[in-house]
Amino acid sequence: MDNNLLIAIFIFAFGAIIGSFLNVLIYRLPRDMSIVFPSSHCPKCGHKIRWYENIPIASYVALRGRCSKCKTPISLRYPIVEFLTGISASISYLKWGLTIDFAFNFVFLALVIAISFIDLDFKIIPDELNLIGFLSGLIYAGIRVDFSVIDALLGSFVGAGFLFAIAYLYLKFRGIEGLGMGDVKLLAFLGTYLGWFGSLFVIFFGSLLGVIAGLTLAYLNKSEDKAKFEIPFGPYLSIAGVIYLFFGDIIKSWYFGI
Ligand SMILES: [Zn+2]
Repeated sequence: MDNNLLIAIFIFAFGAIIGSFLNVLIYRLPRDMSIVFPSSHCPKCGHKIRWYENIPIASYVALRGRCSKCKTPISLRYPIVEFLTGISASISYLKWGLTIDFAFNFVFLALVIAISFIDLDFKIIPDELNLIGFLSGLIYAGIRVDFSVIDALLGSFVGAGFLFAIAYLYLKFRGIEGLGMGDVKLLAFLGTYLGWFGSLFVIFFGSLLGVIAGLTLAYLNKSEDKAKFEIPFGPYLSIAGVIYLFFGDIIKSWYFGI
């Protein structure tokens, strides 16, 4: 087998293990639980998850998605998060190789996966995750050759500032909170990696995705009270951020007509 492909498969396994840890964060952070104690257990019957029941993706398949003791269904979110994180690691490796760029960009991807799933479930984004993202982006900017700390801070400021202005105007003229401060802080994080142009791309493209998804959901749920129909914005901003992380150079040169 091609050596590169073999390494990519190993990296997938590594990513899936990180994904397993992200599942712990996704479950425990919004519930204000400790992320180290107690060890993983079934939320229904308290059955302690053995190491062989905790192998990313494989255990879910082997257990047919149920707790081995009480047979309560395990959320499909667990293998999905593990798979997404594994794929993120593999693709990052194929794009950046085993470099410092790989390490930081994978941190970016792991964080937006955790953020997106927490936002989907709880409509909140934990400050800790945005802060770790923001700080890692600043540290990375200090190492990157094509991107400075000033670029990172500018990206952060433009993104968070722009989104804050929209949130403020929305609240002022419509009297409802359309955007949470979690989304504003998320842009402060994404901006440190993507720069000012990337931040603006994330806001516009993320909004477009959000509107399309919102209209689709509203159409599918005609009977629901649309005024109360709240969609989390974090996952759409995150998807736009991931697209820019991988294709930013192409998007930028296309936009500026280079
Ligand atoms: Zn159980």
